[in-house]
Amino acid sequence: MAADPGARGTARSAPTGPQVLTGAKVVLPTGTVENGQVAVDGRHITGTAPVNAQVIDVTGHWVVPGFVDIHNHGGGGASFSGTVDDVLRAIRTHRLHGTTTLVASTVTDEMDLLVQQAGLLSELAEQGDIAGIHFEGPFISPCRKGAHSEELLRAPDPAEVRKLIDAGRGKAKMVTLATELPGGIDSVRLLAEHGVIAAIGHTDATYEQTVEAIDAGATVATHLFNAMPTLGHRSPGPIAALLEDERVTVELINDGTHLHPAALELAFHHAGASRVAFITDAMDAAGIGDGRYMLGPLEVEVSEGVARLVEGGSIAGSTLTLDRAFKRAVTVDKLPVEDAVAALSANPARLLGLSERIGSLEPGKDADLVLLDANFDLKGVMRRGEWVVTPQLP
Ligand SMILES: [Zn+2]
Repeated sequence: MAADPGARGTARSAPTGPQVLTGAKVVLPTGTVENGQVAVDGRHITGTAPVNAQVIDVTGHWVVPGFVDIHNHGGGGASFSGTVDDVLRAIRTHRLHGTTTLVASTVTDEMDLLVQQAGLLSELAEQGDIAGIHFEGPFISPCRKGAHSEELLRAPDPAEVRKLIDAGRGKAKMVTLATELPGGIDSVRLLAEHGVIAAIGHTDATYEQTVEAIDAGATVATHLFNAMPTLGHRSPGPIAALLEDERVTVELINDGTHLHPAALELAFHHAGASRVAFITDAMDAAGIGDGRYMLGPLEVEVSEGVARLVEGGSIAGSTLTLDRAFKRAVTVDKLPVEDAVAALSANPARLLGLSERIGSLEPGKDADLVLLDANFDLKGVMRRGEWVVTPQLP
């Protein structure tokens, strides 16, 4: 995949005519169909191919559902904390890598700025460019701040949490918070009442405190293992509580830097494939390359694809795209393709309450799909029936 040199916005071209992809390994919720086909008419997948459909022979390729990223800060040199143009550029970059649905994540900043950014992002969500907003910070633990500005962190006062929910105008999808801080449990209840996902992360909670937060309504572990206490045999901490509870979906950053393969395997083993969501946690450098970038108000140096704060050296998000997460999952982690599809599409779609529309290749759903060759390299991306990356087939 080439980087995205000059994409501006998400221009809408007319939907393409009916098409049918044939000869593929098609990954369905029921398993993989060899020599299968996927028919598309307008924006949707259809059960049978329309009579006048253009036939595209993709023999030897995989067709999987479009990827869904619930935790992503930017890409293509731009971030979701930026202008409308920045946000559109970041969306476009990730679309070129197979992410057809994306929740835009903010980082810790002044409350006023977050409220303002929520206004901008909610409009783009309204237009269908993003699936919603994830506020990561400022209600996180100074002990586990990662790449967030310490002086801007604060305890999760429900009144302030409410302010962010309201600023999202119905498009706030998730708030990451350290639930052990004062006001944490009340904030989880408030989020749950408003249908916003309470995600436990950047936390210093004990096992017992984490159980309490899950019982109060928290349903996501923000990048499990990262920015939380490690698993101890006398103090199992949040990791054990988050892995064992069936109500929780765990985010994993599968870039080879954030997690050892054995940690990923442990999470899959304990949570099961239906409770894992692969995320990028990407920052501006995703889809671009090494150099100096900003993550909110903090400066980040990206070297050999690994993003670290200039001051202190903490890992500062990733440069991951979900096509790479997919390839790594099946080639390095040796996960079954169906499990990778669950973690990249079906599970996050369900979490967002969008399973009716996206997350699997079923008739009636949006024609969001990714075409991969036998080596799991990306060869095509279709979103809502339109090719974002047109397949160049031999
Ligand atoms: Zn993040």
